[in-house]
Amino acid sequence: MPREGEFVNLSNMDFDISDEQAVLLERVDRACKEIRPIEDKCYAEDRVDDQVAPILARAGLLGLVVPREYGDGQGVDAVTYALAAERIGREGLGPAAFFSVHTALCQMTIVRWGTEEQKQRVLIPATKGTGIIAFGLTEPNAGSDPASLTTSFEEKEGKFVLSGQKTWISLGSTAKWVLIFAYPRGKKEGMCAFLVDTKSSGFKAERIKDKLGLRTSDTSTLYLDRVEVPREGLLGPPGKGLAVALSGLMDGRLGIAAGCVGVAHDCLDESLRCTGMRSENDKLVGDNPFVQRHLGLMATSLEAARLLTLRSAYVKQRYEEHAEDKELRDAVDLATTKAKYFASNTALEAADRGMLVLSAAGRSVENRCARHFADARVSIIFEGTNEILEQKIALGSLGRNFEAYS
Ligand SMILES: Cc1cc2nc3c(=O)[nH]c(=O)nc-3n(C[C@H](O)[C@H](O)[C@H](O)COP(=O)(O)OP(=O)(O)OC[C@H]3O[C@@H](n4cnc5c(N)ncnc54)[C@H](O)[C@@H]3O)c2cc1C
Repeated sequence: MPREGEFVNLSNMDFDISDEQAVLLERVDRACKEIRPIEDKCYAEDRVDDQVAPILARAGLLGLVVPREYGDGQGVDAVTYALAAERIGREGLGPAAFFSVHTALCQMTIVRWGTEEQKQRVLIPATKGTGIIAFGLTEPNAGSDPASLTTSFEEKEGKFVLSGQKTWISLGSTAKWVLIFAYPRGKKEGMCAFLVDTKSSGFKAERIKDKLGLRTSDTSTLYLDRVEVPREGLLGPPGKGLAVALSGLMDGRLGIAAGCVGVAHDCLDESLRCTGMRSENDKLVGDNPFVQRHLGLMATSLEAARLLTLRSAYVKQRYEEHAEDKELRDAVDLATTKAKYFASNTALEAADRGMLVLSAAGRSVENRCARHFADARVSIIFEGTNEILEQKIALGSLGRNFEAYS
C-alpha cells in the first residue's frame, strides 16, 4: 500500500480562494447566519433542528457534490466542498453532521456506485432537500467492525426482503431514503447495499432521546421487518456492499473533518471574543499569559487541522480524475483518515481549552464552547472511532492495509 505523499506534489497545492469559491462561500455564510438563531433555540430546548435542511436547500447547497445534470447539482471540487463544510461546522457539529451525512456520506456514494435510474430517482430530490438520505451501517452488535453485521435479505419474487436493526443512524427519522447494508440470509459474506424507501411497509424509525451532545441532530434506531426492496434498489454490484460502505466512510470522513475544523474555529472565535471583553483587576483576560497559551495552542492546531483537511480534499480531487486507480484510492483513504482523526481531536481540545479560558461562563450549556465540547465527543466516535483510525494510520504508514475491516 503506497503512502499518500507519493501521489501529491505539495508544491502544486493551491488553497487561495478563487472568485468562484468566494461567491459560493458568501452564499454559505448567508445561510449559516440564518441557521444560527434557530440552532441556538433548538439546542436550548433540546430538540432536533429541522430547519438546517430547508435553509441549505434554499441556498442551493445540497447539491454541491452532485454533478450538474441532476437537479440542483453543482459538481464542485473536493477542496471547495471542504471549505463550505468548514463554514457550516462553525454553526455546530449538528448542522455539520447533517451536511456531511447527506452530501459526503450518502450523495457521493450514490454518485460513485448508483445506476443512472437511481441517480435520477434519488439524487435529484436530494439536491433540492426534498429527499434526505441516511446511511444505515451500524447495528447494536456491529459498529467498528461492520463486517459482523446481522441484517439480512432474501430474494423473493424478483424483490429483496430485508430484516434487521440499525442503530445510531444520523437523519434516520428524517430521511426519505436510507442506504442499508445486509448479508444474504444465513451467510456472512456477499454483503449488499440497498437504497431503502423509508415509507416502505415494515420500516420503522425511532429517535434516540437524551443524548449527551448533538442535541439538535436526529439520531435514530431503524427497524426493518420484512421490508421489500425492488430490484432497482440494489446499490452497486451484488456482493460489493462492504466496498460501498467503506467508500462512503472514506468520503464521509472528509465532510466530518471539515466540519470539525469549523467547530474548532468557532471555539477560538468565541474564546477571543470573550477574553477581549472581560477584565479582572483592570486587565483583560486575554492579557493573562496562561490564557494566551491556550489561545496560541488553539490557533496552531486549528491551522494544522485545516491544512490536513484541505490536503486530503486535494488528494481526493486527484483521485476523482483517476477513479480506477486503486493505489490512489488507498491514498485518499489514508489522507481523509488522518484529517478526520486530527480535526476531531482538535475540535474536542479547542472546546476544552475554550471552556478553561472562559472558566465559570464556559460551564453554561448555552455557551458555544460548552456545546461544542459535548458535541465534539461524538466526532471522535462516528465515521470510525479515533482508536480505530489510529490503527488504520499506523498500518498505512507501515505500508499495510488495515485488516480489521478494510
Ligand atoms: C451521534 C452518532 C451518530 C452516528 N451516525 C451514524 C450513521 O449515520 N450511520 C452509521 O452507520 N453509524 C452511525 N453512528 C455509529 C458509529 O459509527 C459507531 O458508534 C462507531 O462506528 C463505533 O461503533 P460502536 O459504537 O459499536 O463501538 P464499538 O465498535 O463497540 O467500540 C467500542 C470501543 O472499542 C474500541 N474498539 C473496537 N474495535 C477495536 C479494534 N479492532 N481496535 C481497537 N479498538 C477497538 C472502539 O474504538 C471503542 O472505543 C453514529 C454514532 C453516534 C454516536
